[in-house]
Amino acid sequence: MERTKFQLDESQIPSTWYNIAADLPGAPLAPALNPATGEPLTRDEMGATMPEPIIDQELSTERDIEIPEPVRQLYAQWRPSPLYRARRLEQALGTPAKIYYKYEGVAPSGSHKPNTGIPQAYYNKQAGKTGLITETGAGQWGSATALSAALFGLTAKVFMVKVSFQQKPYRRALMESYGAECVPSPSPETAVGRAILAKHPDSPGSLGIATSEALETAATDPSLGYVLGSAANHVLLHQTVIGQEALLQMELAGDYPDVIVGCSGGGSNLAGLTFPFIGAQLRGGPAVRVLAVEPAACPTLTRGSIAYDYADTGRLGPLFRMHTLGHEFMPPPVHAGGLRAHGIGPLVSRAVEDKLIEPIAVGQTGCFEAGVQFARTEGILPAPESTHAIRGAIDEALKCKAEGIGRTILFGLSGHGHFDLVAYDKYFAGTLEDDVVNEEALDLAAASIPRLDGTTS
Ligand SMILES: *Cc1c(COP(=O)(O)O)cnc(C)c1O
Repeated sequence: MERTKFQLDESQIPSTWYNIAADLPGAPLAPALNPATGEPLTRDEMGATMPEPIIDQELSTERDIEIPEPVRQLYAQWRPSPLYRARRLEQALGTPAKIYYKYEGVAPSGSHKPNTGIPQAYYNKQAGKTGLITETGAGQWGSATALSAALFGLTAKVFMVKVSFQQKPYRRALMESYGAECVPSPSPETAVGRAILAKHPDSPGSLGIATSEALETAATDPSLGYVLGSAANHVLLHQTVIGQEALLQMELAGDYPDVIVGCSGGGSNLAGLTFPFIGAQLRGGPAVRVLAVEPAACPTLTRGSIAYDYADTGRLGPLFRMHTLGHEFMPPPVHAGGLRAHGIGPLVSRAVEDKLIEPIAVGQTGCFEAGVQFARTEGILPAPESTHAIRGAIDEALKCKAEGIGRTILFGLSGHGHFDLVAYDKYFAGTLEDDVVNEEALDLAAASIPRLDGTTS
C-alpha cells in the first residue's frame, strides 16, 4: 500500500520556535506605536499586558527561540501532528498534482490554537497571574485558552463575538467544560460594550469589540493575564512548530512543496506553516509560492490598506502597521468566524508587502463545496476557516490539471469542523449566502484608519 500518512515521533517535536524576523530582507519590521505619543511602544508599556519572556519574543530578531521543556511536554500530548498525502482527493480531482496537508485538528480543542495557548498560559503562570482573559471569534481561541488555563490551574474568562456565540453554542459548552467563563460580546460588563450596545442594541459583535472588552477587563484586574489568539509576533512564532514539523515530514515523503496554501484570519496558522519554508527560501533554499486565502466578505489582504491602525475597535490597544480594512469594519457574519478580522499580523502583512506571500479572496459557498469534497474523499470534516485553504489547494490542483503539470501542493488544515455543523446544515439546505462585499461599508471603515500626521479621522 502506498503511504499516505507521514508521522514523526515525539523526539522530533521542535525544540525551538522559528523567528522569521531574523531572515526578512530590508528594513526591520515597523514597531507597534503608542497611540498617545506616536512613539514605538516601550517595554514598560508592553509590560502592562505581557510577561517579560513574551515581550522578548515580540521584539526578538534572533532566529531560533527555545521552547520551554514544560511546554514541549504538553505539546507531546498531540504533537507532532500528522501530515497526509490526499491521494483520494487527487484521484477525485483527476489532477497530476500531489496534494499534502498538515492536520492541526488533532489538538484537544480541535485546531492549531493551543500551540500558542499553552506557552502563553505557561509564561503568565510563571509571572504570577492567577487567570487568563481574552476574546474569541468563532470560539476556537476561547476553547484553546480554556484548555490551556485548565492545564496550568488558571481561571479563564472569554469574551465571544455575539454572532458566533449564537451560531456555535457548543463552543461555549466546551469552554465551560474546561472551567472557563464565556460572555457574549458586546456585553454590559465593560464601558466599551455598554457604549456599543447603547448605539447598536442588536450589534452582532466583532473581534475588534471583543478585544476591547478583554483589554478593558485586564486593565482593571492585575491578577489576570491577557492572552492573544493571533496576529502578534509571539503568536506567529509559537505556531512555527507546524511548519518545522512539515519540513521534516515532506522530507519523509521524499517531496518538497512548490505551492503552500493556508487560510488567513489574523495570520497565525498561515505563518506557522509557511514561515519555516519561506525562511529556508530566504536563506538560499528552494523557492515556494505561498497563497493566503481569505473570505471575500472580509478581504483584509486583498482590499485593505497598509497603514498603522488599531487591532481593537475601542482603540485601547496600540497601533500596528498592517493590512487593515479600518478598525470600525464590521465583517458580515460568515461562518468562518476565525477569519473575520479587519487587520492581520504585521509579520504576515510585511511578507505580503515583500511579495513572499500572495493573497486571494474566495466566497463562502465555494469553500463549503471544497470542504464537503474533502470530507467525502479524505474523511475529515474541516472547520469553515480551513475550507478556505482547501478551496485554494483544489483550485491550484485543477490548474495543474488544465496545464498538464504535476506540481506539489501543501496546505494547512487548521482544524476540524465538529462544532460547525449548523453551518454545514445551512450549506446543504441551500440557505448559506455568498456575502457580496459591501462597498459602502468598506469605504466607511477605511475612513476609520487613523492618520499619523497628528490629525485624527
Ligand atoms: C482561528 C482559526 C483560524 C484563523 O486564525 P489564524 O490566526 O489566521 O490562523 C483558522 N482556522 C482555524 C481552525 C481557527 O481556529
